[in-house]
Amino acid sequence: MIIECKKCRTKYRVDAAKIKTTGIRVRCSRCMHEFILSTSLKNRGDLFKEIFSGRKISDEASSFRQLILAQIKLAK
Ligand SMILES: [Zn+2]
Repeated sequence: MIIECKKCRTKYRVDAAKIKTTGIRVRCSRCMHEFILSTSLKNRGDLFKEIFSGRKISDEASSFRQLILAQIKLAK
């Protein structure tokens, strides 16, 4: 898959199998902007639905929720 640095728009080719749903922290080698890589935005939408649906959630949604919580903690 192709990812794009949100800051300088540099595109990188990444092996999607390495990303996992828990996300990995990556740093753009061009502008040094740091960001979290995880599943695609479409998948994120699905995971959000699953997380807030009240049903038993999958391991994938569970790990994604943990990632969100970790980011919320960092932002405080
Ligand atoms: Zn960049």
